[in-house]
Amino acid sequence: MPFKMPSLTVLLAAPLALGPLSPALAADETPATPGGQEALAVLTEAVAVPTVEGRGQVPVLADKLARRLIAAGFAPSDVQFTPVGETGYLIARYPGRDRKALPTLVIAHMDVVEAKPADWERDPFTPVIEDGYLFGRGALDNKGDLAMVMAAVMGLHRAGWVPAHDLILAFSGDEETQMATTAAMAKALGKADLVLNADAGAGTLDASGKPFVYEVQAGEKTYGDYTLTISDPGGHSSRPGKTNAIAAMSAAMEKIWAYHFPVQVSPLTKAYLEGSAASAPAEVAGAMRALAANPTDAEAAATLSARPEYVGVIRTTCVPTMIAGGHAPNALPQSVSANVNCRIFPGTSRAAVLDRLTKVVDNPAIHIAFTENGTLESIESPLRKDVLHAVEIAVHQRSPGLTIVPGMSAGATDSMHFRSRGIPAFGISATYMRAQDEFAHGLNERLPLATLDPGVKQWQTVLTTLLK
Ligand SMILES: [Zn+2]
Repeated sequence: MPFKMPSLTVLLAAPLALGPLSPALAADETPATPGGQEALAVLTEAVAVPTVEGRGQVPVLADKLARRLIAAGFAPSDVQFTPVGETGYLIARYPGRDRKALPTLVIAHMDVVEAKPADWERDPFTPVIEDGYLFGRGALDNKGDLAMVMAAVMGLHRAGWVPAHDLILAFSGDEETQMATTAAMAKALGKADLVLNADAGAGTLDASGKPFVYEVQAGEKTYGDYTLTISDPGGHSSRPGKTNAIAAMSAAMEKIWAYHFPVQVSPLTKAYLEGSAASAPAEVAGAMRALAANPTDAEAAATLSARPEYVGVIRTTCVPTMIAGGHAPNALPQSVSANVNCRIFPGTSRAAVLDRLTKVVDNPAIHIAFTENGTLESIESPLRKDVLHAVEIAVHQRSPGLTIVPGMSAGATDSMHFRSRGIPAFGISATYMRAQDEFAHGLNERLPLATLDPGVKQWQTVLTTLLK
């Protein structure tokens, strides 16, 4: 049963103080709009709560977010936190005019990847503003967009806007690890018309800071690890026999490395290839158009496969990533195991990939098994005209004429738990940044402050257009 935070009612009596922003802000770095300023306040507060797995801090952050929503006018009974182990998820319902219609969900995650302070130049959990960026773990993934969504929705609520149907903010608490909160949240929410994910999609700026392309994420590959094992009687290394476990595994790895899964083009990746060709380097633009027109064009596939940034778009990929074996320098190895990491094209089953790897390896002495990791097989969301239309209006208001392409990401997000339930999900983050500023999961993660003002506005325009 959802548990309502007891502290919320207490808070209602007290006026909400947004508090001074802890980092010192240069005048030209301060967001210009009330929405941008509120987003920065939420972000600063959120980065300071270390919502890393195992630290029990997600409920603390959820409580802070819930207080803000209630202060902005949300009914306390519409804001509920549900604990799941040491973490949990937050659901806030924004009632619409038609209460019976299926709701629109806006999802984001409150948890962050671990960060070791010793490795960072600045403390990862002390928000620091420098050179137009806010530094800190989660500044980008995903507290930046979470803060923009919060500011956008609170601003609309204060202004008295009422959506056509219910709008639900649904924030998970272990997206980076188990996704148990996502699974529980998706189950608890049940049917929905649509999911808008703040943790995928985004705008890319070129090196000079000019918007270059905006991507709407409508699908993602399935993450899959396969473990290969072989055992052998072994023996003294001075008396080698016919078999050797290391040699056999090496041969298997070599075959997997050399193997290319068949090229696949789906409605989503076809739209991606067509849309991306306009802004791609000349040598690949032709290949993109050719492959979109004819998925059996081997030359076009070879051109794209030669580039790491595109190879994953056109096929399932599997690569050896770990190997271990042998027990002494002077003994024949008794066992060897290896890990092969696959990014599986949407619509292809994990079992089909296992079958293919088995055929490629072609050695019955090697056992291959899928490693369960909680991910679900993914399907892509059919591109929805109303969503693309709302995104186009919002993106072009921010950046007239910017190319918008639907895309597929290489890794899993919370969207997979909704897509697997048949709910279309679209990643439409309002963060625009340069490729070289992207440090999600890494050291010195940061968010460009310049994205806050237009980002809040972008979320508001998407929501008011879709739910007008
Ligand atoms: Zn994320």
